[in-house]
Amino acid sequence: MFTSVDFMLSTAAKNGKALWEAIQEDDMADRSVKAQASWAKMGTLWAAMQAAEADYSADRRSPSGLVGGEGAKMAGDGPGLCGPFLRDIIGTALKMGECNACMRRIVAAPTAGACGVLPAVLLPMKRRYELSDEVIIQALYVAAGFGQVIASRASIAGAEGGCQAEVGSASGMAAAAIVHLMGGTAEQMAHACAMALSNILGLACDPVAGLVEVPCIKRNVMGASNALSCAEMALSGLVSQIPCDEVIDAMGAIGSSLPSAIRETGEGGLAATPTGRRVAELMRSKERAI
Ligand code: SF4
Repeated sequence: MFTSVDFMLSTAAKNGKALWEAIQEDDMADRSVKAQASWAKMGTLWAAMQAAEADYSADRRSPSGLVGGEGAKMAGDGPGLCGPFLRDIIGTALKMGECNACMRRIVAAPTAGACGVLPAVLLPMKRRYELSDEVIIQALYVAAGFGQVIASRASIAGAEGGCQAEVGSASGMAAAAIVHLMGGTAEQMAHACAMALSNILGLACDPVAGLVEVPCIKRNVMGASNALSCAEMALSGLVSQIPCDEVIDAMGAIGSSLPSAIRETGEGGLAATPTGRRVAELMRSKERAI
């Protein structure tokens, strides 16, 4: 398992492989499976993302009643600030988050709370550029490679490292995946991931009433938009002045120093606002009435 972006990139270069291939080979060695089995497993994740989008219903509401139907509101041109592509990304992120809140099947990549970020870039990019499933599965390997380094050097759990660990990690993974989809280099993937993570360092995990709904779902929109911006910068030749591994280490250090109130306890941040507390009390009284 890769524990360093630097090593991941140098392994691929040394063996004359594309980054995604080096990550696939690592997966094969880790799980003692052949290339076909590794590829098939990644393919099931991509199929599940597509199925989750197809299964979306604007009429569904989460058990709390806090969320539902918002992804559908992003259909059409709207006020025109973002343009159709970004609106598609925003809408897809919302739909995936709503599917999770409504207990539908999603792909936790890397976690259920951050399940909207990767599909929010992959699905609209497939539509816009008519990408093959093959290149998208390759991009998923790229995302997985960066995700495993983040998990090993920092964290992908909100309870451990705050929301930077969930939506932040997903954003970094998605940024690298976009660079792959656009034919960028492995170095550009690392810069895109580093910039995306840098932008989200220190983000609180403060789910209202302890539910993965508010602010989680709309944060997925931020994670996807951030990924797109950072991929755009990396593909334009911009670099992260801090190497990706060092950004990840900083993320780990920040995560450990975050107060517990903003590490998924539902005691700080938005969860501790008067409205957040009211919602939590309402949820508790609903549970008592059952
Ligand atoms: S706020 Fe916490 S629970 Fe919600 S997505 Fe972020 S890390 Fe996950």
